[in-house]
Amino acid sequence: MPWARPIIAGNWKMNGLRADGLALADALVNGASQGSGAGTLAIFPPATLLAAIAQRLAGSQVLLGGQDCAPQAKGAFTGDLSAPMLQDAGCRLVIVGHSERRQGHGETDALVQAKAKAAHAAGLAVVLCIGETEAEWQAGQTLAVLDRQLEGSLPEGASAEWLIVAYEPVWAIGTGRTPTAADIERTHAHLRKRLGQLVPDGASLGLLYGGSVKAANAGEILAIPEVDGVLVGGACLQADEFLAIRQAGSRAAR
Ligand code: PEP
Repeated sequence: MPWARPIIAGNWKMNGLRADGLALADALVNGASQGSGAGTLAIFPPATLLAAIAQRLAGSQVLLGGQDCAPQAKGAFTGDLSAPMLQDAGCRLVIVGHSERRQGHGETDALVQAKAKAAHAAGLAVVLCIGETEAEWQAGQTLAVLDRQLEGSLPEGASAEWLIVAYEPVWAIGTGRTPTAADIERTHAHLRKRLGQLVPDGASLGLLYGGSVKAANAGEILAIPEVDGVLVGGACLQADEFLAIRQAGSRAAR
């Protein structure tokens, strides 16, 4: 199994100036070395802080990732960051297809797939996000939407060695609302089956839930069958809260 479970991933989004970001990274390194939490801990700070945080994480258990990458390796793409640049800055992983990119920047499945391919070519592991909107959820289209996004954005030759899939209902991100545990279980069971059909080692592929995860609900979510970890936004910006989510994951794994 390529990634130790549970996988606890923190997406900082567009948050963190140098002093705060370094302090948060230091607190996580410190907490991770003291806590009893097992599994994989990864953080995805803003690009401006990656190189500096990579130095602080050196020798620790905390992995570093980028929040997005370009589908091209280099060239005339003002403002974009390539996967080799992220790798060069010390990243091991990158998120692609986050709903804030799909919706806010009009990213299509084909573009997300190209980004995932570029990331893998640069030696990065990929956290591929998929998720339905509130309207799709209410219309009972969740599984069909997820199937479409998976089929459209899974890179060719995908493997559990370097691909992690995060199911993030758009309506649960940053809202404080989550699907019920039964809904998450049903959706993850479906995704696991689909991944088993689409990816040779899909049965062991890391499958995360994301959307309003916090310390108070992490234990319940991480105990759901086929939930291998969580992708956390808002609650990862406080070291205590993020480390408490990791602790909850360790308890759920017992
Ligand atoms: C996210 O943006 O991936 C996310 C899950 O955010 P939040 O935890 O704030 O809902």
